[in-house]
Amino acid sequence: MKVAIISDIHSNLIALEAVMDSIRDEGVDRIFCLGDIVGYGARPNECVEMIQHHNIPCVMGNHDEAAIGLRNIGYFNQWARAAVLWTSDNLNDNSRRYLGGLEFTLEHEGMLFVHSSPFEPQAWHYIFTDYEASASFRCFKQRVGFIGHSHIPDIFSEPGSGRLIVNVGSVGQPRDHDPRACWGLYDTDSNDFKWMRVEYRFAETSAQIIAAGLPGFLADRLRSGI
Ligand code: ZN
Repeated sequence: MKVAIISDIHSNLIALEAVMDSIRDEGVDRIFCLGDIVGYGARPNECVEMIQHHNIPCVMGNHDEAAIGLRNIGYFNQWARAAVLWTSDNLNDNSRRYLGGLEFTLEHEGMLFVHSSPFEPQAWHYIFTDYEASASFRCFKQRVGFIGHSHIPDIFSEPGSGRLIVNVGSVGQPRDHDPRACWGLYDTDSNDFKWMRVEYRFAETSAQIIAAGLPGFLADRLRSGI
């Protein structure tokens, strides 16, 4: 089975459309989403509708959670906080209901899906190191755990077992100095994983962000992938 995993769309509809085209070209069997559908960009409702339209199972991200007001936002930096407040003001009832119904983890045939980390998924920990990954390997039993959250494509393997934690990167706001949208392609039979990179019209997303009155930095960063 070929599986596409997408994460951290962040209201970037143009990037999401480009990624959906790329996924269709690969002929995948299933698609999963790791959350942060909204936050940062200017098309939150359209991105939620796209995920709904394609019936893509999705887990809760910290921006999704913050935008529907489930938690305080004191831990966000100034740009993220401004984006959360804007998103909260601009979500429609459908988006609010959909995001409010998301679970923190999903599993399917040997795969775990979670936004931040298998260890305490609701605490929004980052996994950047093997040490941080080791705490998470103890918290799930599947062969591979897929994560997002940092927007940095990365892979961690558990010594001895070959189990993996894979960060699939970000559709809508890559931060690895590559501005192209990123998604993950996984073959459950061969256990092969690869990151797919897709050009999209980031200048249009940036223009939408500026037009919406969101911080200019959120528009500028898309060009350099930071
Ligand atoms: Zn994110």
